[in-house]
Amino acid sequence: MANIIDGKRLALELREECAKRVSRLKESGVMPRLDVVMVGNDPASEQYVNSRLKDCADIGLLTETHILDENAPEQELTALLDALSANSAVHGILLQMPLPKHFDQDAVLAHITPEKDVDGLTISNAGALFTGREGFAPCTPSSIMHLIKSTGVPLKGKNAVVVGRSIVVGKPAAMLLLAEHATVTICHSRTVELAQHLKQADIVVAAVGVPGLIKGEMLKQGAIVVDAGINRVNGKTVGDVEFDSAENVAGYISPVPGGVGPVTRKILLANTLTAAERANGIR
Ligand code: NDP
Repeated sequence: MANIIDGKRLALELREECAKRVSRLKESGVMPRLDVVMVGNDPASEQYVNSRLKDCADIGLLTETHILDENAPEQELTALLDALSANSAVHGILLQMPLPKHFDQDAVLAHITPEKDVDGLTISNAGALFTGREGFAPCTPSSIMHLIKSTGVPLKGKNAVVVGRSIVVGKPAAMLLLAEHATVTICHSRTVELAQHLKQADIVVAAVGVPGLIKGEMLKQGAIVVDAGINRVNGKTVGDVEFDSAENVAGYISPVPGGVGPVTRKILLANTLTAAERANGIR
């Protein structure tokens, strides 16, 4: 039976670490602050933002919320992002996605200075990840890496298969694994014989959005399996991995819910604190 990678426990540990970092910053006279920008009032986005604001308040991280009208001109949003980017009291900027259709998403994101892009969404931070420079990776792949590293298994030379190649999850997860010297294969919807790739994998990352796509019989004995998938099936949240069959084969497996999700939330806090530390020469 696989060891369960307990995302809730890891999230709690990260929360404690973040709370200590907030105290240290405040002792140095820095009030760490995350500004959240929302366009429109989509209920799902509102719920997402409120949970993030609660996480910040929980560790004493200051927040400021800016809500623009759904029909606001793009220039109003870019001017706000420019102002927040230039404001030294602001350390992190979270722009809630997706934007209403009339916005040019890439053009808007370019107005967030990369040093405050704690969600890792700018092209500049994607470039930093690709070239191994200092920056911010998106929160979900960072969370995936945190879960994988929590097993304590050395990653150097291991075969890793990432299923999914989106810009926010699959591709950056592959880059982060590569940076740890894993041999990385990226699979996607046109991959032929997914099971053959998975059978060779010491590490499997699922970031697809297809419930139960990856089954125990496809896995290598003892593999580390991290499931980022979030799917609703019959009123229940399930991942991309068929948990019951996979836990009989894997060495380590993250559950859904209670795996990647809770850690992802804390990564946003950790990134904001890193931004505040970097801006103030605190390492
Ligand atoms: P996308 O829809 O952007 O990407 C899905 C990827 O899966 C694509 O690369 C697609 O391939 C690939 N894919 C689809 N079907 C198959 C298949 N049958 N076999 C192999 N590959 C397939 O999704 P995201 O990357 O945004 O999200 C992935 C999952 O992670 C979702 O369930 C999402 O809800 C969840 N998620 C979880 C987060 C968390 O914090 N836990 C945060 C963000 C997302 P192709 O490129 O060829 O189309």
